[in-house]
Amino acid sequence: MSQLNEHFTTEDEAILLETIARWTERELKPIVKEYDHADRYPHDIVAQMKEMGLFGATISTQYGGLGLPATTYAKLVMIISSVWMSITGIFNSHLIMALAVEKFGTEDQKNLWLPKFASGEVRGGLALTEPDAGTDLQGIRTQAKWNGSEYVINGTKTWISNGIEGSAVALLVKTNPNAEPRYKGMSLFIAPKHEGFTVGKKMEKLGYKCIDSGELVFDNYKLGKEHLIGGEEGQGFFQATGGLELGRINVAARGVGLAEGALRLASDYAQVRKTFGKPICEHQAIQLKLGEMATRARAARLLTLDAAMAFDRGERCDMEAGMAKFFSSEAALENSTEAMRIHGGYGYSKEYDIERYYRDSPLTCIGEGTNEMQRLIIARQYMKRNPVA
Ligand SMILES: Cc1cc2nc3c(=O)[nH]c(=O)nc-3n(C[C@H](O)[C@H](O)[C@H](O)COP(=O)(O)OP(=O)(O)OC[C@H]3O[C@@H](n4cnc5c(N)ncnc54)[C@H](O)[C@@H]3O)c2cc1C
Repeated sequence: MSQLNEHFTTEDEAILLETIARWTERELKPIVKEYDHADRYPHDIVAQMKEMGLFGATISTQYGGLGLPATTYAKLVMIISSVWMSITGIFNSHLIMALAVEKFGTEDQKNLWLPKFASGEVRGGLALTEPDAGTDLQGIRTQAKWNGSEYVINGTKTWISNGIEGSAVALLVKTNPNAEPRYKGMSLFIAPKHEGFTVGKKMEKLGYKCIDSGELVFDNYKLGKEHLIGGEEGQGFFQATGGLELGRINVAARGVGLAEGALRLASDYAQVRKTFGKPICEHQAIQLKLGEMATRARAARLLTLDAAMAFDRGERCDMEAGMAKFFSSEAALENSTEAMRIHGGYGYSKEYDIERYYRDSPLTCIGEGTNEMQRLIIARQYMKRNPVA
């Protein structure tokens, strides 16, 4: 039997994925439409996800997590996303926060926070984006000033996943706004909710419903030095972006789930809907669409697993993760659009599931770095690896 890592085997993977697939069919499929249309936070599903250990999926076993390799984690996300993409965001952003602590935190920070993250007792996400700074992360304005005994933080973050229902975030701030280059003045804090940390508003969205996206306001919010990840100022930019490879693999996996889910819906519908006396799947025009959709979904899956395997080998994989994220999210968007067209007028109806895929897919082109940025990252990394001889 081949090993995925020292404590997680392919047999373990098969059992886990089978369990996730059954749970998705039994618990998620029957309720997804109702929750999505009501934009209702799925408290009961979150409780089940806690029970299954999903909030510790990629956290090491020594801290109470499942210690899953990125390949298994990506497959798990694909299964859930093929039915209900948005709920994967509830544990993914949380796991990126946990990764920052596990990769860069002090021993004390790891021992204190990781078991609480793994159990889901403390849940949250990554707070980077601000009203005036998304792609240009070094342009953030939230500032932490040391007053001799603690940091006093002021500023606003926006679009933060799990920002309302969660109880902590990994918070990116400027500790030296005059630093040059700008990234040297950035620091990352573990920021639990207490006085001075309030939720401004819930963002209303086209899709990606049920998960909360919040504006967070920090008004003389105070944190002790023990909350500074790694204990040293100026490391925040690398700590925050250091988790993005896994984050991009996750978004790629969501794209695969959406692309495969949309394909399946279209294929099922095309086999039963009849026009001109035969199922529409017998018209060549529909077969051409299905052929392209199936190829896109498969290519997206293979690119995503390729990036996840590079990540598991401990290799630098920003190019591979970027390719997977870029291709899979575009595949999700194209497949959900084509699937909607195959459904004809019913594709435009809220009675059918396909309209949700059409609304959810665009997020995967934006989150964890827009696809415009992914192409720049891919090109630069490709040239770096292939300089003129
Ligand atoms: C539903 C949702 C959930 C989110 N969750 C989180 C979260 O949990 N935490 C968090 O911190 N953020 C989150 N975000 C924010 C997300 O990461 C940002 O929206 C994204 O990084 C883009 O930033 P922006 O919206 O400010 O766009 P901008 O940076 O203003 O970009 C606008 C456009 O310009 C393009 N562009 C910008 N700079 C360049 C360049 N140099 N070259 C070429 N093109 C460029 C972009 O690709 C884009 O097309 C979320 C967003 C959404 C919609």
